Amino acid sequence: MDIKTTDKTYVVGTYNRYGVAIVSGSGSRCVDDSGKEYIDLGSGIGVNSLGYCDSGWIGAVTAQLNALQHASNLYYTQPCAALAKTLCQRSGYLKAMFGNSGAEANEAAIKTARKYSFDKYGRGRDVIVTLRNSFHGRTMATLTATGQDVFHNYFFPFNDGFKYADKNIDEIAAIDGVCAVMVEFVQGEGGVIPTDKEFIAQLKQLCDERDILLIADEVQTGIGRTGKLLASEHYGILPDITTLAKGLGAGLPIGAMLVGEKCADTLTFGTHGTTFGGNPVVCAGALEVLGRLDDAALKEVERKGKYIVSKLQGCSGVDGVDGLGMMLGIRLKNKAASDVLKDCIQEGVLVLTAKDKIRLLPPLTISDKDLQEGIDRLISAIAK
Ligand SMILES: *Cc1c(COP(=O)(O)O)cnc(C)c1O
Repeated sequence: MDIKTTDKTYVVGTYNRYGVAIVSGSGSRCVDDSGKEYIDLGSGIGVNSLGYCDSGWIGAVTAQLNALQHASNLYYTQPCAALAKTLCQRSGYLKAMFGNSGAEANEAAIKTARKYSFDKYGRGRDVIVTLRNSFHGRTMATLTATGQDVFHNYFFPFNDGFKYADKNIDEIAAIDGVCAVMVEFVQGEGGVIPTDKEFIAQLKQLCDERDILLIADEVQTGIGRTGKLLASEHYGILPDITTLAKGLGAGLPIGAMLVGEKCADTLTFGTHGTTFGGNPVVCAGALEVLGRLDDAALKEVERKGKYIVSKLQGCSGVDGVDGLGMMLGIRLKNKAASDVLKDCIQEGVLVLTAKDKIRLLPPLTISDKDLQEGIDRLISAIAK
């Protein structure tokens, strides 16, 4: 049996995979099982932030593998402590907690918000408000938090204590019993839709006035994706909690919750935990990512994002480009995103979709040459 048939036979069918089996990669390029090469402008949904098989990252990860692969959270390990310190020093947060995915980071944030409110106000102030069209994960709580009706199916009963609002401050202000509001600065899965600055400023003020925790889900927008370490920097605020995942591990599974002054000590011994979270190998890889994302590298992300937008604007079949940095959504004029994606695969470029847009999340380190060639192939696919 070939890879595809074996997968289709034995892996639970929750994924509608594209017809490509990737076997290896280097930089921004990967190769499938027939030997065909692709330029990857999706980077494994923003995970391969340093591209495929980056040598610095492999060096960091393998050095740690050769020293210690796991110790459990019963013990201290250097990479976990160092990663927490670096994340805090770079972001302005006070403490970090690690898990293995975006959904887990959001679960930790939800638990922190509920306990923060319980500790201070007792029971009954437990509502988490999320925005319509948001995406926060696939566990029961984060699926409930996801503000899209299509996800609220089959798995009844969904969790209590979640309410949805538009990006409308009056609608949010009218909801009772709220302990936290969770937002994405750019809705990713929802269609690459940036949230406007005035709404975020109003929301921050409302949250501060009412002692409601503001949770930023930066699972997709974080770690340089938008040209800043955190997208919140574009908005000039430090939310009470930020969650991270995708690009942080550069390919190894990690989620992180960063907590500020209000809730740095909310989760206490025994109230939360994970077996794998903070794994030393994964943390060593994430430290390499942060080490590489200095100010110059972040400026490069911004520059390359602008380059993509300028190249695509006015192209045949392109209606416009939305997003921030290298998190971009292309509005199409007369072709379905799924058809463009198929033609991209033929042209030798991998892209993503988000709702009716083509979504680009290129490796942050993509070379100008690969980026130019990748976008050229994409433009051909759109025009096809
Ligand atoms: C991908 C994503 C998640 C879920 O992350 P997983 O690692 O798949 O659990 C949550 N929030 C946002 C904004 C995401 O983009």
